[in-house]
Amino acid sequence: MIIARSVDELRAVLDAQPGTVGFVPTMGALHIGHRSLIEAARKENDCVVVSIFVNPTQFLPGEDLSKYPRREEADFKICELSGVDVLFYPDVRAMYGEDEVRVTAPDVRGYILEGASRPGHFDGVLTVVMKLLNMVRPARVYFGKKDAQQLALITQMCKNFFMNVAIVPMETVREKDGLALSSRNIYLNPAERQEALKLSAALKKATEMVMRGALEAESIHVEMIRILEPLEVEYVAIVNREFESIAEVMIGNTIILVAARVGTTRLIDNVWM
Ligand code: AMP
Repeated sequence: MIIARSVDELRAVLDAQPGTVGFVPTMGALHIGHRSLIEAARKENDCVVVSIFVNPTQFLPGEDLSKYPRREEADFKICELSGVDVLFYPDVRAMYGEDEVRVTAPDVRGYILEGASRPGHFDGVLTVVMKLLNMVRPARVYFGKKDAQQLALITQMCKNFFMNVAIVPMETVREKDGLALSSRNIYLNPAERQEALKLSAALKKATEMVMRGALEAESIHVEMIRILEPLEVEYVAIVNREFESIAEVMIGNTIILVAARVGTTRLIDNVWM
C-alpha cells in the first residue's frame, strides 16, 4: 500500500496506473462500515484509493474538531489488510489555501434536518468532496446510506456540476443488536451504548408498521418518538428521495431518518424503503 500525503504524490501514483479507480473518502477511525465500502471498491475496480481527512470546514464553530477520534496506526493497518492500493492522507495545508472558492449546499435541501442542526456543515462536506474527487478522479466513489442527506447532496452536486463519476450507495452496516456502526460510537459509555439502541429500535418499529400497511407518516412519527423517549431527539423525519416531507410512506421512495443525542454524543440513523 502506498501512502500519499500530497496531491502530487497521489497523482504520480494514479497517473502511472492504467485501470479504473474506486474511491472511498473517510474521516478515519475506520470500522466495519468503512470496510464494506472498501470491499465493494476492491471488487469493482482495478485500483482502490481511500482518503483519511478530518475536514475542518464541515465542523461548525463550537463543534470540537480536535476531539474527533484519530487512530492513524489502526487505520493504516485496516486499509492495508483490506487491499487498499493507495491511502491518501493529506494534512490541512495540502487540502486548503487562503480565501478559497467554496461550494454552497442548496438553499432548502442543504439547510433542513442535518443542515438545520448544523448550518453550513454541508457546504464544508461538498467543498471537500469536490476537491477530493478532482484530486483522485475515480470512476466510482462509494458512500454510505447512513449519511443519507450527505449522499443526496453529493449526488446532486455531481449532477449539477456535470461531474464524470459514478456514485455507489452502500447499505448501513450494523452491530448484531442493531446499532449502526459509527466512528462516534466510541464516545458512548456502556449505559449510553444501551440507550443508543433506541434509534435502531424506533426505525425497526417504523419498518414493521410499513410492512403491515400502516403508511401514515404522522402515526409512524408518534410511535418512533415514543420509543426514543427520553432521549433528546433532534428530528424524526419521513421524506421522499428528494428529501421532501411526505404524509404517507411510498414504498421505493421513502427514507425515515432520526437524529438524537445520547449523553453528549449526537447519533444519526435511517432506513430506506
Ligand atoms: P465518515 O468517516 O464517518 O465520514 O464516513 C465515511 C463513509 O463511510 C461515508 O460514506 C459514510 O456514510 C460511510 N459509513 C459510515 N458509517 C457506516 C456504516 N455503519 N455502514 C456503511 N457505511 C458507513
